Amino acid sequence: MTQVLSVASECAPLVKTGGLADVTGALPGAMAALGVRMRTLLPGYPAVMRALGDAAEVMADPDLFGGPARVLAAKVAGLEMLVLDAPHLYARDGSIYLGPDGRDWPDNPERFAALSWVAARIGVEGVAGWTPDVIHAHDWQAGFVPDYLHIMGGTGRTGTILTIHNIAFHGLADPGKLATLRLKPARYTSDGFEFWGRISALKAGLMGADRLTTVSPTYAAELMRDEFGMGLDGVMRHRRAHLTGILNGIDEDAWNAATDPAITTYTTPAGKAANKAALRAAFGLPDARGPLCVVISRLTEQKGLDLLLDALPGMLAQGAQLALLGSGDPALEDAFRNAARDSNVAVRIGYDEALSHRMIAGGDAILVPSRFEPCGLTQLYGLRYGTIPLVALTGGLADTVIHASPAALGVGVATGVQFHPVTAEALRGALDQLCRLYADAPTWAAMQANAMRQPVGWAQSAAAYAQLYRDVTPAT
Ligand code: ADP
Repeated sequence: MTQVLSVASECAPLVKTGGLADVTGALPGAMAALGVRMRTLLPGYPAVMRALGDAAEVMADPDLFGGPARVLAAKVAGLEMLVLDAPHLYARDGSIYLGPDGRDWPDNPERFAALSWVAARIGVEGVAGWTPDVIHAHDWQAGFVPDYLHIMGGTGRTGTILTIHNIAFHGLADPGKLATLRLKPARYTSDGFEFWGRISALKAGLMGADRLTTVSPTYAAELMRDEFGMGLDGVMRHRRAHLTGILNGIDEDAWNAATDPAITTYTTPAGKAANKAALRAAFGLPDARGPLCVVISRLTEQKGLDLLLDALPGMLAQGAQLALLGSGDPALEDAFRNAARDSNVAVRIGYDEALSHRMIAGGDAILVPSRFEPCGLTQLYGLRYGTIPLVALTGGLADTVIHASPAALGVGVATGVQFHPVTAEALRGALDQLCRLYADAPTWAAMQANAMRQPVGWAQSAAAYAQLYRDVTPAT
């Protein structure tokens, strides 16, 4: 049995701001059947501490980057958690990343260096008689794990993998923090974790981990290009032999239209009707001749929703409707609130897990016009529920949707609509095509049936991770 320590800043259902949490929350369960035991190290934010029941202290540190800390082991929501209880770093209300002023907490470098430090200690010393063969680090928050393992003499005894969920976030710190972060000054070079005069936790992981993964094959290829690499494309090219793209899956129990407690359950595309009526009622939308399109998203530049604002009038003119749930950039929030003055647009600013299920179940189509998208999950939920995805041709969106080209329609395999380049003009064209497909009821029904048949769970990807864990497990 391979023993793996997963290290992340989020893990569903305990704490989530995006897809990272879905993945770290689902992976341990998916791996269990494949002979991998996975424990997850997570910061002890207030919500996580509250969710801990009976927990045993398995490690202590009197001075972890400025205060006392301990590691608590507990089983929560079926997950084997190791929680880093360090009140001076994590006992803060509000966002896990941002202070009340909406900016990163100034000590974010220390907060997540501490997480990586403790992960490395667990790698070297073990906890309560358990020692991982592999540390699986997620994103910049776990980027220093290879460096710390090296400092503690653990290199060669513990394999390391870093998964890039989004290369846009680098975890930068001022070089004045080298000593505070317990990093080796000799590694502060362009071959190490130096990035344009700053310390980059992500680059540390990209340079130091045995193997790198990202969450779709297309994003893996894109990361080596300057349009997508966010300044790290050279590093990605340098490490291309050690980089693989493994698609995310979804939690098929949580997203199962036949058992979902948040919706009127259904097993065939036709069963969506009751959910659509309920969704229209909940959002105060009238009946319409076009498709009811839904969006569930962080409202940021990445997600391309400004393009949707541009394309909205054309879409409404064809009888389509929009229901959007999201939060983020205040300017986008305001713009969508304004757009909702049209009776065929409904907008909820906020975060609401149950509503997201009702929207996927009741929508005809889900729109994901992202400028870049490492994997994307909402299009996968859409496929599972027979809600046709309209997506930008990028990253995981390119890998998971079969575009309704004449060829795909001809052999009856289309599951959605893709557009490229990611511009308002191309999005308009895609929305036109969506409306035409929707008006052709037999074709639409066939696409829905195809979508619901497409595998979107973890089976294939879990096998790929299991192989990777075996590959990096040091020979004993
Ligand atoms: P990202 O990680 O970039 O935000 P993903 O598509 O990978 O994008 O994952 C987003 C996850 O967060 C999905 O599970 C999605 O349903 C969920 N989500 C995003 N915004 C909201 C919201 N406002 N309410 C409920 N769930 C949301």
